[in-house]
Amino acid sequence: MSDTNKDALPITVRNVTKTYGNVYALDDVSLDVKSGEFLTLLGPSGSGKTTLLMVLAGFTRPDCGSLKFGDEEMIRKPPHLRDVGMVFQNYALFPHMTVEGNVGYPLRLRGVSKQDVATRVERALDTVQLGGYGGRRITELSGGQKQRVALARSIVFEPRILLMDEPLSALDKKLRDRMQIELRHLHEQLGMTTVYVTHDQREALTMSDRVAVVNHGRIMQLAGPQELYDRPENKFVADFIGDSNFLSVTREGGTLTAGGVKLRTSCNVPEGDSLALMLRPERIHLLEDAADDETNVFDATVTEVVYQGESFLLYAKLSDGSEVAVRGAIRADTFAGLPRAGAPVRLGLAAADTVLIADREG
Ligand code: ADP
Repeated sequence: MSDTNKDALPITVRNVTKTYGNVYALDDVSLDVKSGEFLTLLGPSGSGKTTLLMVLAGFTRPDCGSLKFGDEEMIRKPPHLRDVGMVFQNYALFPHMTVEGNVGYPLRLRGVSKQDVATRVERALDTVQLGGYGGRRITELSGGQKQRVALARSIVFEPRILLMDEPLSALDKKLRDRMQIELRHLHEQLGMTTVYVTHDQREALTMSDRVAVVNHGRIMQLAGPQELYDRPENKFVADFIGDSNFLSVTREGGTLTAGGVKLRTSCNVPEGDSLALMLRPERIHLLEDAADDETNVFDATVTEVVYQGESFLLYAKLSDGSEVAVRGAIRADTFAGLPRAGAPVRLGLAAADTVLIADREG
């Protein structure tokens, strides 16, 4: 379909605020979505993701701020003139219509000829791998198929921008995992600027070019998946994405101490007095031999070991009383060889795996 697709457009959001009573659903949000990019808004429930998506779609008018698609100001434009495709969690299909009837609906609304509707519906259904399903009734479809129909309907008029609000959250996990990859491929194929909403951090990391982490109506960090995971800029992002341990850090001159250990770090040290060391459980390892010069070594006592199938979680108390979790892969019968509660362990953390962040709530 990309041969006939219009050019994708960048989205520019500037200083957008939306309040409901004294709740700031969006608090002075500015955001640039690049042309053709897959950008995800990720955040907990109530953080403002849907409100921002509805501002983009034109269903919510912000109190102030500007929104541009390309060079064109959109704030006053009604939804049907914005040329955006939308997919919702609950499909929003017409149950009494056939698949063809649903997918062709936006085209008929735009006065496209009957012949063209048929061709374009067929092409859209092929794109979402539902070729030949045009005559089926919506009630005869599975959840995954319904979501594909909703997708086909959102791309059939070749919008310049595609907006998706938790489109996969009604599907079971296996199907959701598969659809994430399919949506990613579809995006590569169609190349339209896409803004995707989810509260599921793994989904966001799987699918996106970049992720905007949202909390209390503000963007806490905007970065690629790997940067977000490895270099979170604040405690909220570090806590929300992946599992993390935090140790408070004391700074005396140029020396940083955490968990009773003088820290070796290759991470940028943020300004300010209050610092935390973030440790990802899977980056900490149980040391058996002497450590090299680039590894921080924490002496600890095991408090609990948990079997989780593909991996184990080991909780340990450090010499200063703080507790950390360590995750490791289980191969063959390595689980049986792990130290048990009460045993001393040495935990290693490479200087390159240390992440220091300002220790205040974002
Ligand atoms: P999310 O999509 O991240 O779950 P929302 O954008 O739906 O969050 O909501 C952000 C905040 O704005 C929440 O506190 C929510 O209760 C409030 N809110 C959203 N829509 C309305 C509305 N129509 N009326 C009143 N409050 C609303």
